[in-house]
Amino acid sequence: MAGIYVHIPFCNSFCIYCGFYSVINKQIRENYIPALKREISGRRNFFTDGTKINTLYFGGGTPSVMEIPQLEEIVQCLKENFDFAFAAGAVDKFEFTVEVNPDDITPQYADGLKSIGVNRISMGVQSFIDEHLKWMHRRHTAKEAINAYHILRDAGFENISLDLIFGFAGLTARQWRYNLDKITSLRPDHISAYQLSIDEGTALEALANQGKYLPVDADECAAQYAALQNVLAAAGYDQYEISNFARRTDTISSHVSGSGVNSLPRSISYRSQHNSNYWNKIPYLGLGPGAHSFDGSNHREWNFPNVENYCNLQTKEIRSGETLTEKDIFNESIMLGLRQTDGLDLNALNKGLLKTTLTAIARLEDEHLLLQDNIKDNAGNEQFIIKIPTDKFFISDSIMRDLFL
Ligand code: SF4
Repeated sequence: MAGIYVHIPFCNSFCIYCGFYSVINKQIRENYIPALKREISGRRNFFTDGTKINTLYFGGGTPSVMEIPQLEEIVQCLKENFDFAFAAGAVDKFEFTVEVNPDDITPQYADGLKSIGVNRISMGVQSFIDEHLKWMHRRHTAKEAINAYHILRDAGFENISLDLIFGFAGLTARQWRYNLDKITSLRPDHISAYQLSIDEGTALEALANQGKYLPVDADECAAQYAALQNVLAAAGYDQYEISNFARRTDTISSHVSGSGVNSLPRSISYRSQHNSNYWNKIPYLGLGPGAHSFDGSNHREWNFPNVENYCNLQTKEIRSGETLTEKDIFNESIMLGLRQTDGLDLNALNKGLLKTTLTAIARLEDEHLLLQDNIKDNAGNEQFIIKIPTDKFFISDSIMRDLFL
């Protein structure tokens, strides 16, 4: 099992808060596909023999600024070079996600995505209030986002994720509640909600440095996060990670237009398989400038975030890498495991290093900042799971920090 991430580093304009690597230059888009195909074939031996790819994710940037034939050319090249666990209609076995922006979605484009095998859509809505969308420099209105969602449903997409942002100046508790009610009334299959952060190099950082943007205080953000958890739980969404919620499959109902939805097997989880693979340390290959790769053990690589160099240089000159130490692996396991509601199995940690944190674990349990949940796996082996209680997720960074070496 493994995943492939393809970075499409182009946007038609920049959102105020966005720190992802992306460029607006339209001329370079034509050179990008040949360069990407060069990297794909150069990386064909990245995974060990026999590894099946079970998730494919096109992220950005904005993948939906590319034409369907361009995306199809990339998919075709990937199929020629990797062993995909494709199975017609098996949406619970192979997940192919594309991130889209609402303003790019037309019925023709949605049909095109379907025709190349995409079975999961992730769409950035961010807010249902136009004043906020304008401030964020989003290119769509709330109405356009809702319309795009219905177009995708009508095209037959049975797995749609929508993103929201909270914790920014000007978002009142009442407006946040409005956004939560609006998103749950649409019944997407998955919801991601992120607290706005001031990232380096963004327009928002410049505003903050000039004193023109004042960050929201932590108590207000915590209240909005608690509202997020409560409203989504009541609406039938299970939280499985700090920022991610999957619709319970027994809540499938007739609100979903388009064909075939009611034939979905009940076993399907709407958790993002691709992102869950990251958190569960499944190997993944990242293609495109700025993309990261991991061998599933102790080696990471990253492509430099420079699309001009990416298009002009030989494959081996575009990236760097590092071998993780036992301490790095330990800290990463803490961070990846504790962000999930499933928690972290202590058996998976280096025993010697774990000994040095047992006191901190016990103290955090006493303070009700960690829970122990000992269970048996399918083979009857005992697992010693630790979890952050979901009502403490908002302060998860500081809890994890207490366990880092
Ligand atoms: S949020 Fe998405 S659309 Fe906006 S600049 Fe970032 S990558 Fe581009």
